[in-house]
Amino acid sequence: MALVMLKDIRKSFKVDEEELEILHGINLSVTKGEFLAMMGPSGSGKSTTMNLLGCLDKPSSGEYWLDGQNTSSLDSDALASIRNQMIGFVFQGFNLLPKTSALENVELPLIYAGMPQNERRKRAIEALELIGLSERLYHEPAQLSGGQQQRVAIARGIVNKAPILLADEPTGNLDSRTSDEIMDLFVKLNRELDITIILVTHEPDVAAYANRMIHFKDGRIISDERLNKS
Ligand code: ADP
Ligand code: MG
Repeated sequence: MALVMLKDIRKSFKVDEEELEILHGINLSVTKGEFLAMMGPSGSGKSTTMNLLGCLDKPSSGEYWLDGQNTSSLDSDALASIRNQMIGFVFQGFNLLPKTSALENVELPLIYAGMPQNERRKRAIEALELIGLSERLYHEPAQLSGGQQQRVAIARGIVNKAPILLADEPTGNLDSRTSDEIMDLFVKLNRELDITIILVTHEPDVAAYANRMIHFKDGRIISDERLNKS
């Protein structure tokens, strides 16, 4: 069964008193272990779709099934709870708290989850070791390079052991060498931890790391192809 399933999703926003439809019937199934890249021009609906996948917003119509549950019927508390269990996020701008150590940044989702401090610290250190930053636990974001900041953000995205990681243009602020390193890390998380990854990118070189690529245009998915990986 699909881990993530969008069924005829439409999404409108109110603009100047009028409902403007942005997504015009998105159908998408993602199974556990896939690494999906979403491409398409600016304004084509990629981030709007990611926000729906991340339960940060609700569709205007259609159904979103996440891990066998129809999220349409859930209230906002239930939605927040399924989001905390199922989904980690990584953003283009890293979104780390300034003047806060790498370790404390990574602990944040576990604080929200109500985990006791000892266990929290242990899990955060594990996540930072896994992404190769065990030497930087007490560094603040300003003392880290862009690539290191994005690694901290990725550690924060996986620390709750959620099965799905959503990344919206995670290499958009990085040079191409650093962006390759970050993509190698996503591949490792996908292969070794079986994390299902859904990633938005503008760059074909970045999308090539995935094992499936879809293209958006004007609020629709216009292509869906499997990329052969050895
Ligand atoms: P992409 O991520 O592919 O660049 P988005 O999903 O961010 O595109 O946006 C798709 C379209 O929806 C754009 O035209 C954008 O202006 C519009 N849009 C996105 N969010 C809102 C909102 N909250 N209110 C009104 N329009 C929005
Ligand atoms: Mg976007």
